Amino acid sequence: MSENNILVQVENLKKHFPIIGGMMGRQIGAVKAVDGISFDIQESETLGMVGESGCGKSTAGRAILQLHKPTAGQVFFKDQDLTQMSGEDVRQLRPKIQMIFQDPYATLNPRHSVRKIIGEPLIIHGMMKKGSPELKDRVAELLELVGMDPAYMRRFPHEFSGGQRQRIGIARALSLNPDFIVCDEPISALDVSIQAQVVNLMQDLQDQLGIAYLFIAHDLSMVKHISHRIAVMYLGKIMELTERNTLFDNPLHPYTQSLNSAVPIPDPKLEQNRKRFILKGDPPSPANPPSGCVFHTRCPLTVKKCIKVKPEFREMHPGHFVACHLADEKGGSKISKQTILASEMS
Ligand code: SF4
Repeated sequence: MSENNILVQVENLKKHFPIIGGMMGRQIGAVKAVDGISFDIQESETLGMVGESGCGKSTAGRAILQLHKPTAGQVFFKDQDLTQMSGEDVRQLRPKIQMIFQDPYATLNPRHSVRKIIGEPLIIHGMMKKGSPELKDRVAELLELVGMDPAYMRRFPHEFSGGQRQRIGIARALSLNPDFIVCDEPISALDVSIQAQVVNLMQDLQDQLGIAYLFIAHDLSMVKHISHRIAVMYLGKIMELTERNTLFDNPLHPYTQSLNSAVPIPDPKLEQNRKRFILKGDPPSPANPPSGCVFHTRCPLTVKKCIKVKPEFREMHPGHFVACHLADEKGGSKISKQTILASEMS
């Protein structure tokens, strides 16, 4: 990973979906799916993004790629502001910014052969001609790149396992030589043994091709091995953002500590003594987020200030950002112990 070569920069990004109701069909509210997130991704870097279902992480991925038009904020790709571009200009840039989806089966046309699925982006973007030998060679090359036999190009999606279908989805995303891929829960639907294979493949591809990933998942164990840094999202906002090891060794936000306590430890002795901090209840609705800190309705450390005052997203240590009033510079482990105790007593 090259340092300080920012590829993607996200500034105060918001995506609100209007709620329409009443006799007149007017807007009566908004679902604040993404509510002011900022971060950057360097060339060849993987930024993991985790949070419970409905926290806005997939919407964030789509808003970054302009598949959802952002409500506010800016997204820079190589210093070009995607939010200010016309649809046609974004389309021109699309080869460089791609997406991999959770359920490859839903996104692979069942009536198209693998050759057509992987080759189609090259034809659409005018890079190769339909039926040309170059196109066939490129599809074969891409299949080999994702560890599949080029002879499979004549087959159809239903003839493959979930892991193989995800490899086909990855080959299609790679066909246009992207610099950046948003990976929207690419391993969540796969068996655990296959998850590791797909993660290893994506890491190898990053090493070979220098691609940057935004890797979205709903738990920390899925992003642990692939991420250089990790952002933790809750109710449309980033709660904590830091380097991978720091996030696991010294999480400063109670929500991160809760997610962290759910990650199994490979050592059986340590695993036996692992303390789980299980959050009570479900996240509140993003249509009606709590005042102050949006986590205060589930946080066992809530104090009066949390209910009234929104915590700033502060840089506690170089590169370690946290949105919590109590996350003082040496307070991470203190919060952790208190939090677990509170959870065990409740
Ligand atoms: Fe908990 Fe308050 Fe920190 Fe929010 S600001 S995470 S409610 S302690």
